[in-house]
Amino acid sequence: MTQVETARGPVDVARLGTTFMHEHVFILNEEIRQNYPQADWDEEERVADAAAKLNALKQRGCDTIVDPTVIGLGRDIRRIQKVAARTDINIIVATGLYTYGDVPFYFRFRGLDRDSAAADPMTALFVADLTDGIAGTGVKAAFLKCAIEEQGLTPGVERVLRAVGAAHAATGAPITVHTHPGSRSGLEAMRVLTAEGADLAKVVMGHSGDTADLDYLATLADAGCLLGMDRFGLDLILPLEQRVDTVAELARRGYADRIVLSHDASCYIDWFPQEVIPAFAPAWHYGHLFDDVLPALRERGVTEAQIETMLVANPRRYFSRAS
Ligand SMILES: [Zn+2]
Repeated sequence: MTQVETARGPVDVARLGTTFMHEHVFILNEEIRQNYPQADWDEEERVADAAAKLNALKQRGCDTIVDPTVIGLGRDIRRIQKVAARTDINIIVATGLYTYGDVPFYFRFRGLDRDSAAADPMTALFVADLTDGIAGTGVKAAFLKCAIEEQGLTPGVERVLRAVGAAHAATGAPITVHTHPGSRSGLEAMRVLTAEGADLAKVVMGHSGDTADLDYLATLADAGCLLGMDRFGLDLILPLEQRVDTVAELARRGYADRIVLSHDASCYIDWFPQEVIPAFAPAWHYGHLFDDVLPALRERGVTEAQIETMLVANPRRYFSRAS
């Protein structure tokens, strides 16, 4: 049986159970947090709050969250370990880099003489996170994360996508891409990752659920990609009705084995003043799938077997080595 790395060490993929494929624990601008301390940030309190929220989610029936928080989103694996020690839920952590434009200056003047993505020092860091562990914690990343937004394939974004593709080719670790379906950026991601030798069956096109464009979604799925219908609760981008109608229609067309479900929620995100979040996205929390989304899918004829495929079998296959 293949094993997958989590914040508490390796777990048999068969034991991942119900898996939400894109949830954050913390999203932070670490440099800002350290320099401009927030009144509502108390390290101990935030860790306890995260553990409480994840324990509540586990109670509801979710066994594993897949957390694509990487450089650019405030990754701190020591903080995640503190949370993981207080909850039974599995937390799978990532390596990679989150940017819509440039790479951080740290990388700008490193690897200038590289002749391939495999020779990029960025790739070596990603591979080390996957194989040796992250920042001396012993916790290993189990997947790679990159982004291509509305800005498209900027030189920085291309460099990260290629490094992620090369790290995947070297290790077999699966990939999650933050995409912007409004500009069909998943197609560009697919092209670049394929050129780096990626196995598209190991690629989640994240935020695919932000569109109801069935042709676009079918193109990605027919190429082998998994569709991340992973922003339930962000009704401002696409309302719940359209999100569930789209998943139900894809399931009806036979694509259940290409769909994963999630919220892209977090226990704490510093991108917004905390008090405005419930106002603009009242359903954007870990309980929304159980409360509203799964009942709405069942109402639309999605079967229990299809739901199981999306929540259990597809994540298990994604994290199983050698597809
Ligand atoms: Zn996210």
